[in-house]
Amino acid sequence: MLRGQAGGEGLCRSFRALPETEVRSALLSQRLHPGRGGGSCSVARMSLSVALDAAHYQRDFSVYKTAAEATSRLPSCTANGIQSGTWWTLQGGCDGLSICEACHAGFLVPIGVAQYFERTRRSFSSPILCSLHITAPRALDLLSHFGQMIEKGLFSHFADYARLWSGVRACPGLKAQGGGTWFGYHELYMCKECYLECAVSQPLADTLPVRDLYEEDLRICQMWSPRMRRLWLETNAAGAVGSPESKAAEDRLRELGTQRFQVYNATVLQIEVMQQMQAMRRRAALHKGVQSTVYAGANSFAMAAGASDGYMYGNSSLGWHGTRNGLIGAQLGMESRAELAQLSGGDETAEILRLQAIWSQVE
Ligand SMILES: [Zn+2]
Ligand SMILES: [Zn+2]
Ligand SMILES: [Zn+2]
Repeated sequence: MLRGQAGGEGLCRSFRALPETEVRSALLSQRLHPGRGGGSCSVARMSLSVALDAAHYQRDFSVYKTAAEATSRLPSCTANGIQSGTWWTLQGGCDGLSICEACHAGFLVPIGVAQYFERTRRSFSSPILCSLHITAPRALDLLSHFGQMIEKGLFSHFADYARLWSGVRACPGLKAQGGGTWFGYHELYMCKECYLECAVSQPLADTLPVRDLYEEDLRICQMWSPRMRRLWLETNAAGAVGSPESKAAEDRLRELGTQRFQVYNATVLQIEVMQQMQAMRRRAALHKGVQSTVYAGANSFAMAAGASDGYMYGNSSLGWHGTRNGLIGAQLGMESRAELAQLSGGDETAEILRLQAIWSQVE
């Protein structure tokens, strides 16, 4: 929101940090800065800070004014996404890149690259996260290529990166992922990130049977581990594509993929289940500890109030207490401590370590 304001009072830190230039004075004289306590400050908004830089650079305040006025009418670019409106992408289309109207008006127009982008249709079954929002996948890399593009004056620097990488999810690592897109072999999937990082430039890349295959079910990426990447490179180096040596190396790699997946199921998945159960039991044991404190407190309270019946409750291991609550408290406290001790040093922890050791051999 752009609101008028008097003098220099109520200026936020972002504004006070602006260098003393004609753009700053123009902002002040045109009263484009919101007053104390009101609205979101346009100077502090990231997309507009780009417009502000562009205005400084071009020594043209209207660049900033136009961007500020346009974005103030548009839904702001947030981590929750936007479920309507016009979206922009690269000329010629780029499915992974969706830029919201606010970033179009605040980034692309002021910098003077709007002509490289076109309107695009996006389905609004759920809110769309703008590719330039800092929480979008690879937004930092994308923005840094955006900066280099401005510096070098070479739009392709941004476009090439965006076409290849935008929308590529980060590798799920050890976690199984549903609804992913996969590359590789049926016995050995790799996620798109790993494919782009270590497979795409290798001789066997074009012959991979699984390419951009969508899988609703849970699958794991087998190519994030340094060991598997090394074996993949060795397979590529085994011989010319299509030669018997190359085929044999590929068969070995696929077999390893099957084996490794079996070991994954028997170890990593088991460890996850055991850790979840441990966490549940730890919560139960801690809960007993809290209850124990409550009963012990009730006991002390009754004793202090002289409300005991004169009878002593207890036994040799739990001690003697003036009320039944005191005995219950001591009993719960002992159970809680015993259960916690068992959790930290128990058979299960040893079993988890054993499974981790098995997995580390094939990781
Ligand atoms: Zn401000
Ligand atoms: Zn945006
Ligand atoms: Zn991966």
